[in-house]
Parts: sequence; structure tokens; C-alpha cells
Amino acid sequence: MCIGIFGGMFDPPHLGHLILAELACEQLELDSIIFIPTGTHPLKNDSLYSSSAHRLQMTKLAIEANSKFVLSDREVATSEISYTVDTLEAIATENPNSQLFLLLGMDNIAIFDQWHRTDRILELSTIAVYHRPSDSPVNIPEKLSSKITRLKTPLIDISSTVIRERVKKHLSIQYFTPDTVREYILEHQLYIN
Ligand code: ATP
Repeated sequence: MCIGIFGGMFDPPHLGHLILAELACEQLELDSIIFIPTGTHPLKNDSLYSSSAHRLQMTKLAIEANSKFVLSDREVATSEISYTVDTLEAIATENPNSQLFLLLGMDNIAIFDQWHRTDRILELSTIAVYHRPSDSPVNIPEKLSSKITRLKTPLIDISSTVIRERVKKHLSIQYFTPDTVREYILEHQLYIN
């Protein structure tokens, strides 16, 4: 089995995430991609974000049409800090003989050296890298270069930040995210205040 691992705040998930995941499945010939909404984030101030329950539910709605997309609550279900290495270790144990691909944007490659136990991350997984429109040029750290595979993905200039800002200004978010997610945001009055 080839398994992709895609972590993020997903506040909210949007078409940029979904198109990226779809193309990663295709190009890496993955059997599944596990979407893992981030719990307590070591490098982000999580009081600024929607609750784990909202982010989990929106991610569930966003991926439900694709049988290869799987939701994991492992990071939001714990109050501990979730390090990527621990998540990978657990998925590797649960899926022996599987090849793991960790999907990372160039934004994360730039700060990869700050992550916990990067050597073990590279033992456990291959890093599948993609670009975002906002990327600035990145020098790929030496130890990463042989463990990276590059995805060919279109640059889609959608971010969760833009969606949150548009909702706050009462602008449409139709087509930015699946209708089910848009309806959830409106029903629960997320991002208004
Ligand atoms: P925010 O605007 O709140 O920072 P985001 O849109 O970057 O959110 P995240 O949940 O942080 O969304 O994204 C998870 C991962 O998905 C990130 O590593 C990010 O690089 C990637 N990603 C997000 N949006 C896109 C996009 N439009 N194209 C490609 N990758 C994306």
C-alpha cells in the first residue's frame, strides 16, 4: 500500500487542498491519502483558529466524495503537542509494509529544519513536495534532497485565510470550497467575528 499523509489546520479545507490531494494520488499512485487536521500546533498560535470539532467536521465534508480520501482525528483527539514524527510512527506501525509519502508545501520545506526529529521523519517517509503561488525561492536542505519527490501541480491561489477574510466581509465563497463546507461555515457562523 502507498499512503499519502496530508496535515493542515484545514480552517477551512478548500479546493486548493483537494486538487493537490487528487493530483498527489494520481502522480504517486497512492491507495489513499490521510487528511490529518492539526491539533495543538507546535509552530502556530492555535487560539486564532476554529475549534478542532469544526475543523474535523469541515474536513470530513470536504473529502467525503472521494473514497481514497480518509480522515484521521489522531492529532485533534489528543491534548498533547502533535509532532509529525509521532504521527508517522503511529501510521507506519498501523500499516506495516506500506510506503508513506508526506505531502509538504515549499512553505514547510523552508522550515523543515525546525521540526522535531527530521532524520526519523526521513526514515519513515518520502517527502512529496508541491508549490504554492506564495512560495519564495527555497534552498532545499542537503539531507532532504535525496528524499524528495516533486509533484506537478497547478498553482491555485486559494488559502483558508482568504476564505476567512471573505466570509468576514460577507463576500461569496462559492467555488472556493465544496458547497457542503460552505453551508457548514454559514450555518455555524464561522469566521464572522
Ligand atoms: P492558512 O491560510 O490559514 O494559513 P492554508 O490555506 O495554508 O491556511 P492549511 O490548512 O495551513 O491551509 O494547509 C495545509 C497544507 O496545504 C499546507 O502545508 C499548505 O501548503 C497546503 N495548501 C494550502 N492551500 C494550498 C493551495 N492553494 N495550493 C497548494 N497547497 C496548499
